[in-house]
Amino acid sequence: MTLQKSPSFSLNSPVTVLAGVGPKKAQALGRIGVFTLEDIFYLMPRRYEDRRTPKPLSLLQPGNVECAVAYVSEIKERNGRTEAIIADNSGTARVVWFTDKIAAFVRKGMRLALYGPVSDYDYYIEPQFSHPEFEILYRQSQQPKLIGKIFPVYPGTADLTQRTIKKFVDTAIEKYADNCLTEFIPKKIMKRYTLIPLKDAVLQIHSPDNEETFIAARNRLAFDEFFLLQAGVKMRRRAFSGKYKAHPIKAGETFDRLIENLPFKMTDAQKAAIHEILCDMESLYPMNRLLQGDVGSGKTLVAVSAMAAAFDSGVQSAFMAPTEILAQQHYLSLSKLLEPLGINITLLTGSLKPSERKKILNGLADGSINIAVGTHALFSEGVSFKELALAIVDEQHRFGVLQRSGLTSKAEAPHVLAMTATPIPRTMVMSVYGDLEVSVLNEMPKGRKKIKTVAMKAKNFNDICRKIREEVSKGHQVYWVCPVIDESERGLVSVTSAYDVLTAAMPELRTAIIHGQLPIDEKANIMQDFSAGNIDVLVSTVVIEVGVDVPNATMIVIQDAGQFGLAQLHQLRGRVGRGKAQSYCVLLANDGITEAGAERISTMVNISDGFELAEHDLIQRGPGEICGTHQHGVTDFRVADLVRDVKILEAARKEAQTLLNDDPDLSGEPELKGEILRRLGEVLELAATS
Ligand code: ADP
Ligand code: MG
Repeated sequence: MTLQKSPSFSLNSPVTVLAGVGPKKAQALGRIGVFTLEDIFYLMPRRYEDRRTPKPLSLLQPGNVECAVAYVSEIKERNGRTEAIIADNSGTARVVWFTDKIAAFVRKGMRLALYGPVSDYDYYIEPQFSHPEFEILYRQSQQPKLIGKIFPVYPGTADLTQRTIKKFVDTAIEKYADNCLTEFIPKKIMKRYTLIPLKDAVLQIHSPDNEETFIAARNRLAFDEFFLLQAGVKMRRRAFSGKYKAHPIKAGETFDRLIENLPFKMTDAQKAAIHEILCDMESLYPMNRLLQGDVGSGKTLVAVSAMAAAFDSGVQSAFMAPTEILAQQHYLSLSKLLEPLGINITLLTGSLKPSERKKILNGLADGSINIAVGTHALFSEGVSFKELALAIVDEQHRFGVLQRSGLTSKAEAPHVLAMTATPIPRTMVMSVYGDLEVSVLNEMPKGRKKIKTVAMKAKNFNDICRKIREEVSKGHQVYWVCPVIDESERGLVSVTSAYDVLTAAMPELRTAIIHGQLPIDEKANIMQDFSAGNIDVLVSTVVIEVGVDVPNATMIVIQDAGQFGLAQLHQLRGRVGRGKAQSYCVLLANDGITEAGAERISTMVNISDGFELAEHDLIQRGPGEICGTHQHGVTDFRVADLVRDVKILEAARKEAQTLLNDDPDLSGEPELKGEILRRLGEVLELAATS
């Protein structure tokens, strides 16, 4: 007798271990993303069919998909179809199958279970099943398989019927669930949230008893996804911060002088954020903080204070902006504030002459330059700092998660402050940036007026010009934004043609063009001219989208506004309303505007709060696109939904935090640790090393 070793299966075993799955079927399953047993356990039905209660035939509703049990009282073939009349105690109904094959085995007198769409059969005014699924019930006591339950409907593929997929799922659950689906959530957490066991959850997802059990199952699996991600991110953070030490930063005299000399009073939110940042930076562990604040809430000042504190502590800071224009502009405004305090600040972008670049690199290496402002060129090859202790990343959402970690691995371990003006919804921060602390500027500087936003048509051009003249006559300035540089693109209005039209209509105004293809020096000059008030109307592409700060600009006109996303429109609108005067945002719709575009415009007119808009955006576009993390897979949840499952996310985050505080290595929870590494190992490693 040979000893048969029981084969070991795991979630990672290929689907071919299932009876009936050969290379062909495996390929077909692959097309719906199913490669392993795990994939099949977690294959989420697209929807469900409620086939629980058969209806008496007299109650069948045309227009519904219904199920019934009835006897065949007549059946015949006609014109390649099979037609039948069925009956139960309550009445009769017609059935038509679009094939002549049925009558060969369905006979008069047989009892059938049926499931399918019901329509009106015009002539007889009798309900009719159209091409229903059916099952012959040979014995009186026979329980139908086709109905009596809630049925899953899986993502479709041409080469696999629903029945086949369901059979594979059922086999997988029957044969392998016990071995593969071991519980990993700690008991006390399961109890606290009355989470159902993993195996039950998987079973109920594929074959729910009722709505309640389905929701319990979905909640359990959503909890798993959030919880594992949160715990994983926290583990990584711990491993990371144990490896690297930061330089502690303490505010001193320069910081105090900066604050004393401010031309305005800080908002309470700014004070609180600065306080939180200073507390973080006193530590030997690198700060990892996200500063969220709507456009115009004054994030730059918070960053400036942190950099002043770094200077006080004798270390360098880097301030990274997403575009050259923005880097330029930050450089100008930062130097105004910081140079009088004796701080040496420089601008490092990709378009420097080699000799200039060399000089700057030397200054960074020998420590004579205290602050470098720049684009991602700051962290390119060949740039090294003497002692970089603080890195600030403006407009974080433009960089994506990977670049943030790239920044951290380049330098030793600076404190990192990421700032975002397109507010990332709280739910998103918690899931994607689970390892970040968050400060929020939820308050605007005093005296700001709400921007008036209106939607207009291109034919209102004269009215708009009148309004522009009015603003300019008050000494204010105007942005005119177009989606494209060149006319040829998609029939949209370009900066050049808008410029021609505007200068022809208002020759008395000082109008200029700016776009991304101009040489950096020219862009810088134009922006400086605009800041200085020497330009009345600036015709621009979205190069001014992010961060540009000219408080004297009070009107922005956005041409072909339907072309832009909500986040972008909000960013653009945020270029005005930065001073005390009333500001205006005009959204121009072109004729060929899409329905979605029109909806975005009306959303913009109705909502001014950036956080509220961001939630809208999240619903409309999905999380990955907002964070630029699509390829990253971090937000690719199978079950969890960032909008629907906020409460679960919060609970999961809290539990992960507590658990890891008590047991940082998860040595008391080997199953949990195993599951985190199995599910997220790759993603977490990627994020840590890239
Ligand atoms: P954002 O948060 O969009 O980056 P900025 O930091 O560019 O905003 O600030 C917008 C404008 O508000 C700037 O002109 C800045 O000088 C000004 N500002 C910042 N804080 C205050 C304040 N507490 N009171 C008045 N104005 C302020
Ligand atoms: Mg800013």
